[in-house]
Amino acid sequence: MLAAIYEDIDQHFAEMVEIRRYLHQHPELSFKEFNTAQYISDFYKKIGIPVESKVGGNGVIATLKGKLPGKTIALRADFDALPIQDAKDVPYKSKVDGVMHACGHDAHTASLLVLAKIMQKHVDKLEGSIVFLHQHAEELPPGGAKSIVQSGMLSEVDAVFGNHFWSTLPVGTIGTKEDVFMAGADRFTITIRGKGGHGAYPEETKDAVVIGAELITKLQTIISRKVSPIDTGVLTIGQFQAGTAFNIIADEAKLQGTIRYLKPEVKETMKAELFRIIHGVCEMNDADCDIDYQDGYPPLVNHPNETEIIFEVAKEIEDVTNVLHSPVQLAAEDFAYYTEYTKGAFFFTGAHKVGHDHPHHHPMFDIDERAMPIAAKTLIGAYFACQAQGKEE
Ligand code: MN
Repeated sequence: MLAAIYEDIDQHFAEMVEIRRYLHQHPELSFKEFNTAQYISDFYKKIGIPVESKVGGNGVIATLKGKLPGKTIALRADFDALPIQDAKDVPYKSKVDGVMHACGHDAHTASLLVLAKIMQKHVDKLEGSIVFLHQHAEELPPGGAKSIVQSGMLSEVDAVFGNHFWSTLPVGTIGTKEDVFMAGADRFTITIRGKGGHGAYPEETKDAVVIGAELITKLQTIISRKVSPIDTGVLTIGQFQAGTAFNIIADEAKLQGTIRYLKPEVKETMKAELFRIIHGVCEMNDADCDIDYQDGYPPLVNHPNETEIIFEVAKEIEDVTNVLHSPVQLAAEDFAYYTEYTKGAFFFTGAHKVGHDHPHHHPMFDIDERAMPIAAKTLIGAYFACQAQGKEE
């Protein structure tokens, strides 16, 4: 049956491309994906698979119940876009100013929708259930995954699988990793309140730029002196805004940054040190400060059995030429909440477009669409592998 389904997926390639390009032209920002959610739920209504909308926000969940007993397996695709101006010169370029599918979530959605349509034809022979889990707001913490878990809609799910197209991996690659696959990530905003004045009379001021500069340098010692060299931690200050003119001492500086980690205890150390250093540096300079710390997604932990399933399934797919034991990624994903809740694995599908070397979240980002059938095959292959495991026991 799987071979026939794989063939069917290949035959539906054009439809995947069509849907992906439609979504690419109509991107919507996280938590505002109302039309995309509507499009998805209309698709399921049209093909006759029961669908639930507004799950934990804009989430859409369709459930295909097979006629035979078996496990319930969820396959997840996210569908939000990013606040980026599409700079590509292609017919399917974004039609929405300043909004773009620059992470491939359009393609996640297209491959899952078409897979659902194909599987619907096999419902009579199907064991267990397939939960087509369309998630909103992956790009913006608190994200959509947590609220979907909290909705209780996944209480019957035995395992969950999710794909991310990866533009730096060649088409034909399936990559994943057991245990911690992606990092936990938090963000913070520091506001330093000093005292402004004339650039010629610093003694009458508390220079927020100098305090900010000192703070940035000190914060890096968290990585070099407080996190064990054996552990992984990243602290990045991505924004430093202060001042209005070359000869005016700034009264206020705003710093924004992120912390990345793989172990909860490393996060706790980094967070505590961050607060201590900020308060210490501001105190030393007789300045006030505010810290707005937002806990983000936890590390994404892949379960061993489900990770092995992905490796085994990928090996059997003809178009997969490289089954990659991926290194850990310091990017974050709210898929982490699903594998905290139930068993599952997240994987990358190589989608590099040759001659188009732009990373995710770049105004020129694009994927090679031939990756879509490969992802669909891996997802449904994982579903069948889970059902087969049930029988061995
Ligand atoms: Mn993404």
